[in-house]
Amino acid sequence: MNLQFKDKKVLVRVDFNVPFDADFNITDDTRIRSALPTIKHILKEGGSVILMSHLGRPLKKLLPDGSIDVQKHTLEHIVPHLSDLLGQPVQFAQDTVGDDAQAKSAALKPGQVLLLENTRFTKKEEAGDAKFAKKMADLADLYVNDAFGSAHRAHASTTTVAQYFDKDHKSFGFLMENEIINADKVLNNPTRPLAAIVGGAKVSDKILLLERMIDFVDTLIIGGGMAYTFVKAQGGEIGKSLVEEDKLDLARDLIEKAKNKGVNLLLPIDSIVADAFAGDANTKVCSSNAIPEGWMGLDIGPKAVDTFKNAVMDSRSILWNGPMGVFEMEAFAGGTKSIAEAVAAATEQGAFSLVGGGDSVAAVTQMGLAGKVSFVSTGGGAMLEYLEGKELPGIKAMKE
Ligand code: AMP
Repeated sequence: MNLQFKDKKVLVRVDFNVPFDADFNITDDTRIRSALPTIKHILKEGGSVILMSHLGRPLKKLLPDGSIDVQKHTLEHIVPHLSDLLGQPVQFAQDTVGDDAQAKSAALKPGQVLLLENTRFTKKEEAGDAKFAKKMADLADLYVNDAFGSAHRAHASTTTVAQYFDKDHKSFGFLMENEIINADKVLNNPTRPLAAIVGGAKVSDKILLLERMIDFVDTLIIGGGMAYTFVKAQGGEIGKSLVEEDKLDLARDLIEKAKNKGVNLLLPIDSIVADAFAGDANTKVCSSNAIPEGWMGLDIGPKAVDTFKNAVMDSRSILWNGPMGVFEMEAFAGGTKSIAEAVAAATEQGAFSLVGGGDSVAAVTQMGLAGKVSFVSTGGGAMLEYLEGKELPGIKAMKE
């Protein structure tokens, strides 16, 4: 954040899309806390902060009369907690770029904070509308984007607005800067050997990631439900495990490509199989390519854990996206837990580890290991797309 903030009004795009309980108490404030360093820095430097964010999908959940459910989707619910976290009052504008936002922005003094109403109260936000974005830009002198989780969307507040500020008047915030720096550690000249661990339910969600990884990792570990499409592609019997029949050819191609490129592609040798998709199903361990009819693989087995662990421990850079099994059920969380522990141990030995872009973030957090890996991304879909090599519109707009 190389900008001079003194006496400047700074429009900061944050991601305050937090979950609430029925009484609008925030149930997880991680996203708000993640934005605090940027906000506090601007205030300390003598600027004022105009915050904007989306919250939920208000236009997809209209009231029966077709109007917006303001009570459910207003960002005003955030004000008390944000004020507490900042230790100062936060003002609120009843609209995003209308009369109230304009008047309150104009009156804002250095050191003060204003939160604008939900950017998604109009379809102009997701359409990336230029006039709407220009009105946002007119509220402030500088623009800071700290919403990495929204950087893959070409919306008005994440992308279009940036075109109204030249390079000397816009910057990434600390959170977003950190996400990019850490992802680039894996993507640009990583210390080798580099291992990518890819898991989760479906091959189809991760095709681009797998194709990209094959091109530059030393080891590719594939676990989770998606592994069974690969096992079947090699002629294995997978019972009623998850499979995507239309991705069998792709799986074969990837296996072939890995061979040609000398990539060490690891699939789970064995699995914990169950006779039903349930936490209390009957379970047993068997080879992943000999799963009996009527049984399904819901976690990687002990031999797979050993192989994967050894590969992780031999690596100097590790990227992890997606769980190794149905970790939400205790009976099938063991594989993901062991891999999380191995990633933490490799990190302790000096490897760089990035967990991001899927449910593995939830898994690592749930297992209390988030502090033991090098970086846990807040980025979700945005991180996945960044790792896939796509140029994110929210990042591109800051460089133009
Ligand atoms: P993703 O969002 O792509 O990281 O996928 C995460 C989901 O994949 C989680 O909800 C897991 O329960 C699910 N998953 C992982 N392994 C399996 C499996 N072997 N069978 C079915 N679902 C799985």
